[in-house]
Amino acid sequence: MPESEIERILSDAQRFLKQEKQFYGNSMIRESIWDVRDSAHSEPAVTSAKAAAPKVIPKEVVKESSKEKTQIMAAKKKEVVPSGPISITESVVKGPKEKWQADVSLSDLDRHICNCTKCRLGVTRTKFVFGVGNPKADLLVIGEAPGADEDKQGEPFVGRAGQLLNKILEAVNFKREEVYIANILKCRPPENRRPHPDEVEQCEPYLWKQIELIKPKFILCLGLTAAQTLLKTQESLTNLRASVHNYHGVPTYVTYHPAALLRNPDWKRPTWEDVQKLRNAYDTSKQ
Ligand code: SF4
Repeated sequence: MPESEIERILSDAQRFLKQEKQFYGNSMIRESIWDVRDSAHSEPAVTSAKAAAPKVIPKEVVKESSKEKTQIMAAKKKEVVPSGPISITESVVKGPKEKWQADVSLSDLDRHICNCTKCRLGVTRTKFVFGVGNPKADLLVIGEAPGADEDKQGEPFVGRAGQLLNKILEAVNFKREEVYIANILKCRPPENRRPHPDEVEQCEPYLWKQIELIKPKFILCLGLTAAQTLLKTQESLTNLRASVHNYHGVPTYVTYHPAALLRNPDWKRPTWEDVQKLRNAYDTSKQ
């Protein structure tokens, strides 16, 4: 392997560890969502530090294209063996335990958080936008926050951007109802402004809990805000799109937000290329 490739992998691994450290301090998760998925889909969500045997990287991951495989393997190898809980939300949410943290279904979670007013957006929203789709989806699509249409209807990606998202998914043979769609924030920021850091801090744990319950095999982040927030990075969209990221063991892809494509149709082609990469990896994982 060329020296430059080794340096790049080490650099990616260092960045990954730094993000994990920022995220969890010294109490990191041991088991990835990917690793627990097969057994956990028929069981309640992972909410305790139940012992589990060390896992190996699934065969399907190894069949990824060599570049993607190297990225995923590098992150996996560098995963710190922690002593803390394996639940994302238990390890991150500070303060007294809240009822929703123990939920074992998306419907319970929705019921427990739908009246949330932890941040200012709880006062200005019309409807709380929890998320929609297959609760056992292999693919989780994550956007930034509800817009005006979503705020009115209580469902993510239902306006023009939502219709375009459906087309993007269909272009690579995913049906909307087959995937799960959620946002970083559950309530609309006024005038569609970007989420404020304190709003993200309050709301993102709900998304972590959704991820924990859905246990997706793949994640697709739509737009810079969703990607930077989820992956805890300041990288540019160009750089983020160029790599497959490891979000707690889940291969995570990044592409343009459909609303951005409505403003700039020239980005449709690269978006299709991004989702095609995801589709190829998804198909390979099924072989
Ligand atoms: S944006 Fe999130 S944290 Fe803020 S009120 Fe809505 S659900 Fe609660």
